[in-house]
Amino acid sequence: MASENFKITPYKVTLKKDGLPRCGTRSTPGVITQRSCVYYGARWILAPIKNSIHIIHSPIGCAYYGATVRKKTYTIASSDISEIEIIYGGEKKLKKAILEAARELKGEVIFVYLTCPTALNGDNIEAVCREAEEILKIPVIPVYSPGFAGCSQAKGHEIGMKALFRLIDRNVDSAKELIKKKRRYKFYKISKDEELTVNIIGEFNVSHDLEVIKELLSKLGIRVICTFTGDCDLKSMSESKKAKLNLVHCRSTGKYIANYMEEKYGIPQMKVSFFGISNTQKSLLEIGKFFNIEERAVEVIKEEYNKIKEELKFYLEKLEGKKVGMFMGGSKIGLLSAAFRDIGMEPIIIGSQFGSLEDYLEAYINAEDNTILVDDASNVDLQIMMENKKPDIFIGGTKEKFLALKLGIPFLSFPQDNYPFTGFTGFLNFAREVYKAIYHPIWKLIKFEIN
Ligand code: SF4
Repeated sequence: MASENFKITPYKVTLKKDGLPRCGTRSTPGVITQRSCVYYGARWILAPIKNSIHIIHSPIGCAYYGATVRKKTYTIASSDISEIEIIYGGEKKLKKAILEAARELKGEVIFVYLTCPTALNGDNIEAVCREAEEILKIPVIPVYSPGFAGCSQAKGHEIGMKALFRLIDRNVDSAKELIKKKRRYKFYKISKDEELTVNIIGEFNVSHDLEVIKELLSKLGIRVICTFTGDCDLKSMSESKKAKLNLVHCRSTGKYIANYMEEKYGIPQMKVSFFGISNTQKSLLEIGKFFNIEERAVEVIKEEYNKIKEELKFYLEKLEGKKVGMFMGGSKIGLLSAAFRDIGMEPIIIGSQFGSLEDYLEAYINAEDNTILVDDASNVDLQIMMENKKPDIFIGGTKEKFLALKLGIPFLSFPQDNYPFTGFTGFLNFAREVYKAIYHPIWKLIKFEIN
């Protein structure tokens, strides 16, 4: 779907029948936005990388803010700059912090984040990183992520992904032959005895989502080399260029690496989704087609579906026709609205803190004419929408949770807390969690009046 064919309204809130919401623009001054800053967006991408050290070149506040990502708190370091460094520059203090962190924390790669104050005082973190790399003999990667570099965390996702290019490029010499061969991938046929390998890009292994995906792929005989960034380390990133296909799970964040690897190493990319039954089936069939193992893909789909179908029936009957509101990361609104459609539910509010036009287009096809599409809603906006539309359940992050519950609306956290939501078993978990939230006995005991 090309966005040129769709009407884009001048408003951040719209009904589907009126067009797509305006997005990718700065928040209205004075409004308490739900967005995060660019630096936090970069943390969202880079935090899960194994054996990595993260140094935030900032006052301690930015570092504290970026320590917790997807509800997990990481050990990070800060150069802890103060007024003195703001005036005279903080490069010396940064170098000291890098060497100290390398000594204390041990890791195979170091990321150094530029934040608002250190970008404004003009510190040359590239030069400091090169000096530190000389001394430490491990990659020291600058991440140019001052909070003001974009209008939301989405820009930070891009910056975080692009910071990884240098790590993918390691050991380039040994891969020269492979690259030449891959560059002709349009004519590249996979022979029977070749190992089937992929990278997954834009998957962050929330509540073991990745394990379900890997198990499905292993049933097709496919090995995952590297998952950016839910399961990656320096070695797997460096080997990722040997993959025969890149599976892009979250397009908003994944496209940067996928495009880069396609351009540089000739690795084709395929957009997939393992959220919802129809998306999972479609993705497995397309992967099967690519590797010429379609029959196996069909078998796996049948086997996996048969395992869940009896239990699933109960939830589908109970949930059919229920209405859902959602507010979450841009790339997930299309996927989740499709998964709710698979359950038989109707998305009536679809919103994101930082969706792109592509994200809203994906959501658009799962929406009804009167479904609200909203970008960068404040808490007050969300409250008004919930009160007017009265969804049977709302799905979103911590910031929306208590608002929904106080209004008497059942709530489901996303990213989810306990179980994987990907693949067939994940879809069953998803339906079960939605059912548990809506039919929780507490709602019979409490009466809410929404005026
Ligand atoms: S100072 Fe800038 S980089 Fe630090 S948390 Fe605030 S907006 Fe983000």
